[in-house]
Amino acid sequence: MARRLGRRKFLSTAMGATLLGSVSTAKEMSTPDSTEKREVRLEFLRPKEIKQTQAECPTIFQPLGTIEWHGVHNVVGVDAVKAHALCLQAAQRAGCVVSPPLYGGVGGLSEPHTFIMEPENSIFSNLLRPWLEQLCREMVRDGFRAIIILTGHYGAAQQIVVRETAVRMSRALGIPVLGTPEYMLAIDVNYTGDHAAWGETSLMMHLYPDTVDLSRLGKPPHQGVGGRDPRESSAKDGKLITETIVSRLAILARKMPKWDNKKLDRFVDAEATLVAKQLSASRGKGNIWAAWRNIGTAMRDYGKQLAEESFEEIKASVAKL
Ligand SMILES: [Zn+2]
Repeated sequence: MARRLGRRKFLSTAMGATLLGSVSTAKEMSTPDSTEKREVRLEFLRPKEIKQTQAECPTIFQPLGTIEWHGVHNVVGVDAVKAHALCLQAAQRAGCVVSPPLYGGVGGLSEPHTFIMEPENSIFSNLLRPWLEQLCREMVRDGFRAIIILTGHYGAAQQIVVRETAVRMSRALGIPVLGTPEYMLAIDVNYTGDHAAWGETSLMMHLYPDTVDLSRLGKPPHQGVGGRDPRESSAKDGKLITETIVSRLAILARKMPKWDNKKLDRFVDAEATLVAKQLSASRGKGNIWAAWRNIGTAMRDYGKQLAEESFEEIKASVAKL
């Protein structure tokens, strides 16, 4: 089957390798916005295709996640596989590439089947931060001109480390590097980030339906779940969140490599303002989530503002955190 359909087409379904076994007809592989899909996973590209893609859209996505308990109803790889799937769809639309997902980061719950590489609330990352820095440097050395780091794992420290590193790399490397959790792009469709609850579970029900089993959930409280009751999750909600995130990522992936220095500076200024707020909101008292209290209202339009390059509006939103 694979040979008859052509290798590139076969390998490039939205869900990537996980669904290879279940793809059986050409019809299943077509989507409304694209009839001919291309391979966007960097690890499956040859030099010629990489060069062609870079000439067209020199942006690269870096999905982040970890291995962590996500309730009895979800697989433990949720964070990375979800971020990867979103990046793949965005890269398909934008015509750019996706670096392999990175498993491991800051924090993780004290639950079974969880790899905690660095302490949950430590912003003093010794592993993730230098790893991301070197990844960014190598991506630039290889010819990429914009980087989008999308983390599907989002303890507060993980979010801060990712965004702060992106800001610093934007300045040091002279190209736009965005480092954000995926939910920040979908706050206006009422997803403010959760853990294995309604939001993440809905996303998984849309992106990888076979991985979710809601029937395993008993009555609340659900072990190792934080947020709205996951029994209210649906593929429909997951689709809306996915569409919102992917459309914004695709717009950014097309635009970012074309930004001039002035626009780059405005972007970095806005992102740095957000990092500064997240770092300083607790005033050294250790409440690392202090800047998240009203994120659902203050940062509601962040995704839209970012895609529209309304960086001054982002700064105004951050002031309300
Ligand atoms: Zn998660």
